[in-house]
Amino acid sequence: MQTTAAHRAAATEVLIIGTGFGGIGMAIRLKQAGIDDVVLLERGDDVGGCWRDNTYPGAACDVPSHLYSFSFEPKSDWSRRYAPQAEILAYLRGCADKHGLRPRIHTGQEVSELRWDAATSLWQATTRDGRIWRARFVVTACGQLSRPLIPRIEGLGDFAGPQFHSATWRHDVDLTGKRVAVIGTGASAIQFIPQIAQRAAQVTVFQRTPPYVIPKQDRPYARWEQRLFARVPGARLATRGWLYLSHEWRALAFTRYPALLKVAQWDALRRLRAQVADPALRRKLTPDYPIGCKRVLLSNDFLPALQRPNVELVTEAISRVTPAGVQTADGRLHGADVLIHGTGFAATEFLTPMTVHGRDGHELNADWKDGAEAFLGISVPGYPNFFMLYGPNTNLGHSSIVYMLESQIAHVLGCLRRVRREGAATIEVRPQAHRAFNNTVQQHIRRTVWDGGCRSWYLTESGRNTVNWPGFTFVYRRLKAGDYQLASG
Ligand code: NAP
Repeated sequence: MQTTAAHRAAATEVLIIGTGFGGIGMAIRLKQAGIDDVVLLERGDDVGGCWRDNTYPGAACDVPSHLYSFSFEPKSDWSRRYAPQAEILAYLRGCADKHGLRPRIHTGQEVSELRWDAATSLWQATTRDGRIWRARFVVTACGQLSRPLIPRIEGLGDFAGPQFHSATWRHDVDLTGKRVAVIGTGASAIQFIPQIAQRAAQVTVFQRTPPYVIPKQDRPYARWEQRLFARVPGARLATRGWLYLSHEWRALAFTRYPALLKVAQWDALRRLRAQVADPALRRKLTPDYPIGCKRVLLSNDFLPALQRPNVELVTEAISRVTPAGVQTADGRLHGADVLIHGTGFAATEFLTPMTVHGRDGHELNADWKDGAEAFLGISVPGYPNFFMLYGPNTNLGHSSIVYMLESQIAHVLGCLRRVRREGAATIEVRPQAHRAFNNTVQQHIRRTVWDGGCRSWYLTESGRNTVNWPGFTFVYRRLKAGDYQLASG
């Protein structure tokens, strides 16, 4: 029999699950803090998270890259204001290489179960292939947008041609000259529809709810600007600072005074009138909910693409899919050779399908049966030495998730330092702190524009917003790690 001390000695200090922005950032910061005994488990075949998976044509970020990147790993030569997917993926790969993370990353390792062992004060992670990993601390960095959602539509399986989700794009399917049916008009679909419309014979877009689309102020950076950013760090920092402030004020409108958004709504509808001449198409594209309630989309080519002769926007509800195409409630069959689901992700399910067993019979799915919640979106009572990045109520409608991740990474580091300083074995959030935090979050969320009566991926089936942070990002960053209890093991 091994002793508890021997078990602990054989275990990893920190196990990180996921190697997107969260996992890579956490590992870099741990290394810089002198915590070297780190293992990263990745279900895919490379780092990059959603930027590895989402390779659909036209994929790009809708947050400017000087803000959507680590403050501690700046990049001066972003090719344009809003970087394309391949460049962001290359950036993340570069971060992993530069900081020597590759040897610690184990790909093809999807964690199916996490189990706390009170006897040894260790977490045990089991991967799909049956491997077991033991660690003192676990940090999940699985993202909120990592489980593609394929809609349940009658007859979907009978479709004769290829069908795929935007996040698992089939590059082997040549769309040239094909009739393509696209379900959805969210952030992903509005990026790939203009691209595929250039080569497909016909694109039929099935829209359930019209999005608000506003211009994307995108442009390439000139060589001189890239050189300036590289040689004068102050210029790069000033750009990042300005981007931060120019995005941050929007939190006021989204989360405190939604009435402020009326101007943005008026402007978006004015642009729609100016860009879409056909009144019938314009009617279909006019939202009937307040701007910001669903994610506001940035695009300069979506509305023009919808007006191409080979593109049709269909707003009748889909009744079923047949081998030949998509049938709508009016009985029309829209013939298609390829079916693409731009239907988003199961964002409110968080760590699913992983099961997490904490102490004293706690199981995260059971604890979250009324909706996911965590202290700062990071810690849950009943789960010692367990932290989540980009957990419940930490998504934003107005700024960069990378900023939020850095706040969370600093918070986790603070907890680990405290455990070390006090010679404790475990750290766990106090239930009172957890409850008070989440009551406040839910109270605040009722004042936000997301509570404006629309359907969005921010809400659970019962209408609870378990996804978004209802406030300023600097307020979130300032919330301190004082509400934990430590124990020796
Ligand atoms: P999404 O915003 O959730 O959009 C899904 C679309 O599919 C919506 O139009 C939705 O209609 C429709 N849909 C879903 N189920 C349907 C069904 N059964 N029948 C008909 N239509 C259906 O998903 P997404 O576009 O993949 O984007 C998700 C999030 O990822 C974004 O909000 C953003 O945060 C992130 N993202 C970012 C970027 C970027 O940075 N540029 C790009 C892509 C994605 P309803 O609106 O009626 O639900």
